[in-house]
Amino acid sequence: MEGVRGPWGAPAGSGNLARVSDPSMPLRAKLASSVSRTAAALSRAAGRGDGSVIGGWLGLKIDPDLLAHLASGREIALISGTNGKTTTTRLTTAALGVRGEVATNSFGANMPTGHTSALAKAGTTPFAVLEVDEHYLAQVIRSTAPRVVALLNLSRDQLDRAKEVAMMAQLWREALAASPDVRVVANADDPMVVWAARSSPHAAWFSAGQRWTDDSWVCPECGAPIARPAADPAGVSDWHCTGCDLRRPKAGWVVEDDGVVDPDGRWHKIELQLPGRVNIGNAATALAVAAEFGVRPEQALGRLRRVASVAGRYAQVERDGRRVRLLLAKNPASWLEAFDMAEEAPTLLSINARDPDGLDTSWLFDVDFAPLRGRDVLITGDRAYDLAVRLEVNDVPFRHVRTFADAVRAVPPGRLEVIANYTAFQDIRAELDRVL
Ligand SMILES: [Zn+2]
Repeated sequence: MEGVRGPWGAPAGSGNLARVSDPSMPLRAKLASSVSRTAAALSRAAGRGDGSVIGGWLGLKIDPDLLAHLASGREIALISGTNGKTTTTRLTTAALGVRGEVATNSFGANMPTGHTSALAKAGTTPFAVLEVDEHYLAQVIRSTAPRVVALLNLSRDQLDRAKEVAMMAQLWREALAASPDVRVVANADDPMVVWAARSSPHAAWFSAGQRWTDDSWVCPECGAPIARPAADPAGVSDWHCTGCDLRRPKAGWVVEDDGVVDPDGRWHKIELQLPGRVNIGNAATALAVAAEFGVRPEQALGRLRRVASVAGRYAQVERDGRRVRLLLAKNPASWLEAFDMAEEAPTLLSINARDPDGLDTSWLFDVDFAPLRGRDVLITGDRAYDLAVRLEVNDVPFRHVRTFADAVRAVPPGRLEVIANYTAFQDIRAELDRVL
C-alpha cells in the first residue's frame, strides 16, 4: 500500500547490523524474543489480527526486560501525543529509511507489548521509530533509551479522560527531566507540550499549529490564562502565559505555505499524497526528527511523497464511479483536523458510540461543524441522531442515510469524503474490503 514498509519482509540490510543481534543478549531474552515472534506468527495464521499484542505480551511475561534487550544497540525515535502519532510515525519511518532499515509498530499497537513484538520481528534493523501511547511514554523511554522523543500535542481524547491532560504533561515533564540525554522534538504551538518539553536540556521546536485549544487555556505552571494574540486558523500564535515566563519558544522548523522552513532558514516544498495542512505539519515533524539522525530534508522528501495511506486512513477507493476517501476522527481535535483535510465535496459523517469510541457523544457539542456549511452533508452510524441534533443546532443542513452503500448511491459520481470515528471507520473499511 505504500513505498517504504516495515522492516520485516523488506530486503536484508547492510553489514553494520550485527551489534543488534548481540550474542551477549541473555538466553532468557533470546528465548522470550523467539516465543514472542512465534506467538505473533501463530496469531496471524489463525486470522486473529497481526498478533503483535499477544506476541509481545508473552515475550514480556518470560522476560520483563525484553523490550530493553531488544532496544539495545538500536537508534530509536519515539513518537507520542494525542493526535497524529500514527501518521507521523509512518512518515518518520519513511524519512529515516534514508539511513537504513527501520523497525516500526506500523499496526498501531502502541503500548510496550506492541513495541516488544515489533522489535522482536525486526531482526537486526539498526533503527526503530515507535508510536507510543501517551500514557506509556515514561515507561518506554526508560526501557528503550531512545535517541529522540517527538511530542506532537496533548488534548482530551475521551470525555472521561479530559482531566488527564495536565497530569499527562506532568508525567512527560518528569520523564524527560529524568532522561537528560534524550533529544526532544516538540510542538511549540501547544503550551502543554512546551511546558513538558522545556524540562529537557535538548529541545528542538517545530511549529505545526494547534487547532484545538480548549485543553490549554490555563497555564500548567501557574494557573494563569494563556494569551493567544492573532491566532491563525491552524492555531499558530505567539502565545504566552499572562502570569509567568511560560511562552512559545522560537521554532526551528516552521510550516509555511505548502512546505517547511528548516533551522537554516531554507524552505522545502512538501509534496504528499496525504491530504491537508495537518499532514504537512506531520511531515515537517518527521523531517525534524529525521534531522536528529543526520537526515537532510532534501534526502527524505521523496520518501514522504510515496506514503499513500496509513493503516487504512486517507485510503482512496473507487466505488460505483465515486472516489471514496476515508478519514478517521477520534476526538474533538481530530474532527477539526479532518475538516481541514476534506475537500469541498459531498461528505459523509459516521458516528458510533461503542466501547472503543467512548459511550458519551456529548463531545459532539465541543466541535464546531460550521466548516461543513455549503457542502452536501450525509450522516449515518449508530448515533446518527445525536449528530443530527448537533448539526441542527450548528445550522448545517444534512441528509440521513441508513448505510454506507446508501450514501454512495445518494451522491453524484466524483469525490465522496468520509469522516468517521473509530468503530464507524472500521465498519466502513470492512464493507469496502468486502465489496472490492
Ligand atoms: Zn504561567
